[in-house]
Amino acid sequence: MKVYTQEQVDDLNSKIKTAKEALQWTSENLHPRVAKASSFGAEDAVVMDIMLKINPDFRFFTLDTGRLPQETYDIMDAVRKKYNIHLEVLFPDTNQVEEMVRDKGMNLFYESVENRKLCCEIRKVNPMNKILGTLDGWITGLRRDQTKNRENATIFQLDSGHGGILKINPIIDWTWNQIQEYIKENNVPYNSLLDSGFTSIGCEPCTRATKPGEDVRAGRWWWEQNGNKECGLHIDP
Ligand code: SF4
Repeated sequence: MKVYTQEQVDDLNSKIKTAKEALQWTSENLHPRVAKASSFGAEDAVVMDIMLKINPDFRFFTLDTGRLPQETYDIMDAVRKKYNIHLEVLFPDTNQVEEMVRDKGMNLFYESVENRKLCCEIRKVNPMNKILGTLDGWITGLRRDQTKNRENATIFQLDSGHGGILKINPIIDWTWNQIQEYIKENNVPYNSLLDSGFTSIGCEPCTRATKPGEDVRAGRWWWEQNGNKECGLHIDP
């Protein structure tokens, strides 16, 4: 595994300022030991399109939690067909899921934040950690204005939670309007839930549409009023 120093990351951030430049650098320096994590939301659609215009062999992976909406499975197949990509689909450990639902029920996430985090850990974080252990870097669709936790994020980051590999956030400074415009202008295939007001898309039982003026991630774990609404994939210990 290749690890980076904070000095190297600072140097990259001082020289590279756009999504295209970041992904070009990533293609030249990290491919094929780098992959895009995609949950098939609007931001992911944009990053995937830019990536594939730079390098059609870029790698992509997604987490099938077992609780995704049908529309997400539909867009997975639509994207695979349009771009002819090899999509790596990761699944949670069956034993861990079986034990969790036996102890706490199918819909444990509604009962407490602790239960919700446990479910996210088993269905998302653990499978993700497995693949990240084989990579030198991973690419996200994060944007700075999505959550408080992301407001200081930069294009290149040291991912100390995953052994010091690089985390590349090419559209970190894009606005929601820019995302929508890019999708329209480039005829990018996107999750049909977006047209029903799903400005952020996760598991079916844990995501609802947002209303005009609401925060774009307000529909995620909508029953939780306080705290940091993240699943754990993007928390840096
Ligand atoms: S988003 Fe909901 S269903 Fe999906 S892993 Fe997290 S708690 Fe479980």
